[in-house]
Amino acid sequence: MSQHKLILSMSMGRKKRKIWPWIVGGIAIVIAVICVYALSSDDTNNIQTESHPIDINDLGMQEWEHLSELTRQSMDNDIETELPMPSPENANPFLINGKITRNQTLFVALKNHGLDINDIHQVIDSMQEVVDFKKTKPGDRYEVHLDVDRRIIKFIYEISPEDISISERNGNEYVAHKVDVHKRTERKFVSGEVTSSLYQSFVALGESGELASHFMQLFKYDINFGTDSQRGDTFSVLVDRITLNGAFYRYGRVWAATYSSGARAKTLEAYYFDSNDEFAGYYNASGQALKRTFLKNPVVGCPVSSPFNPRRMHPILKRIRPHNGIDWACPTGTPVMAFADGIVTYANWKGGNGNLLVIEHAHGYTSLYAHLHGFGIGIKKGTHVRQGQIVATVGNTGISTGPHLHFGVKVNGKYVDPATINSSYSISLTGNKLHAFNQKKDALIAAMTNPKKNGQTESASNE
Ligand SMILES: [Zn+2]
Repeated sequence: MSQHKLILSMSMGRKKRKIWPWIVGGIAIVIAVICVYALSSDDTNNIQTESHPIDINDLGMQEWEHLSELTRQSMDNDIETELPMPSPENANPFLINGKITRNQTLFVALKNHGLDINDIHQVIDSMQEVVDFKKTKPGDRYEVHLDVDRRIIKFIYEISPEDISISERNGNEYVAHKVDVHKRTERKFVSGEVTSSLYQSFVALGESGELASHFMQLFKYDINFGTDSQRGDTFSVLVDRITLNGAFYRYGRVWAATYSSGARAKTLEAYYFDSNDEFAGYYNASGQALKRTFLKNPVVGCPVSSPFNPRRMHPILKRIRPHNGIDWACPTGTPVMAFADGIVTYANWKGGNGNLLVIEHAHGYTSLYAHLHGFGIGIKKGTHVRQGQIVATVGNTGISTGPHLHFGVKVNGKYVDPATINSSYSISLTGNKLHAFNQKKDALIAAMTNPKKNGQTESASNE
C-alpha cells in the first residue's frame, strides 16, 4: 500500500519539473541505441530473459519516463504499477475481494489488508486440509467477510470455478471445507448449415465462438475456412459441455466433427481416438491422423540461401564439404519452430554450429537447427516440444557468413534432404490400433446419427 502511495506522489511531483522529460528522453534514446546495437550484433545472447521484466524497445517515451521513476525507486523485482482502484465491492467495509498477485503468498495478501495476524494464521491453517497451496497461483481470487471489529468471519478461496474452498469461524476456531460444486459434463450434438460464415452459424445455434474455433482448428490442415467455406456447407460436432451448478462453464473435448463442403464436393471427418499413448488424437474415418507430422518449413518468410548438397564448396573453408541441410536467410531474431513433436536432445553451443538445437522425433527422425541466436524459453535438453512451437531464434553464431538458419534432418541417423520430406504426410493407424479406433469411431458415429437414442442432448436448433 505505502509503495503505491509513494509512486503516486513521486509521479505527481514530476509534473512540476518540466526539464525532466528531456533528460529522461535523452537517456532513453541512448539506451535504445545500445539495445538495438546489442540485438543486432553476433553475440550469443540467449533469449531466455525471463528475469528481465520489461523490454525497453517496447516502451514509448511516456512509459519509459514512468519506468525510470520506478528504476530510481528500486527496480529489483516485481513492482505493482497499478494503483488499487476503489471498486463497489471494496466500498463494503465488511467484505474484501482480492486476487493473489505475482510473488505474493496468501498470508502477505491478507496481511496487506490489515487483518488480524492471528486470524490469518488460523484461517490458513484451517485451509491446509482442503486447499493444495502448492497449486495456488497469481490470479486466484479470495473473499473475506469481516465483523465490526475487522475479525475474519468467513474466508473463500477460489483456485478455479471448480475448486472453491471456504473457512468459517466457529467459536474460537476456523473450520474449512470444499464447496460442493455440481460439475456436470454432458455430450451434445450440434449441427447446422453455413449461412454467412461458419463462426456466425455456430453463434446462431447458441454456441460460443470458442466452439467454432475448436472446430476450425481440427480441419485447418484440410480446408481454409476463410476462403473455402461456402453458404450451404453443412457441419456437425459432438462435444462435451461442462456446467457448474447448472450454468454453462466451458467446452470439454470435441469427440467428433464433420464438415461437408459443396465447393470441394467432399466431407471432412474427425474422430477423437482416446488412446493412452502417443496415438491419442484426431483421425479421419480411415484412421489417418488429421495432423500432419511435419511442418512445411521451420521458419516463415525466408528465402533459401543454400540447398541440401552432398558436394558443396564450403563458402568459408573453401573445401568440398557436404551441406547436410537447407540454409534459410532470415534476419536475426526470426522465430524458429519445431519441425514436429519431439524431445530436445541438445540445446547448447557446439563449435562451428554455434548455438545448436537438436530435437528427436518419432519414427527415427531428428531435426537440427544451427547458428541460432538463442533458445526459446524453457528449451533445454529433455524438454518436450510440439510441432510449430517456437523453440529458438535465427542468429549468426559459429562459422557463419551472415544471419541464417541451417536446418538439417536425419532419418535413422542419416542426413536426408529436408525438401524431400512430404509435409502432407501423417501417420495412419494399423493393426490393433486401427481396430480399437474403428470401434470407438463407430460408437461416435452412432451418437451423432441418433443423439436421442444415445442419451445425447438435442441438436442445438431445437433448444
Ligand atoms: Zn547450412
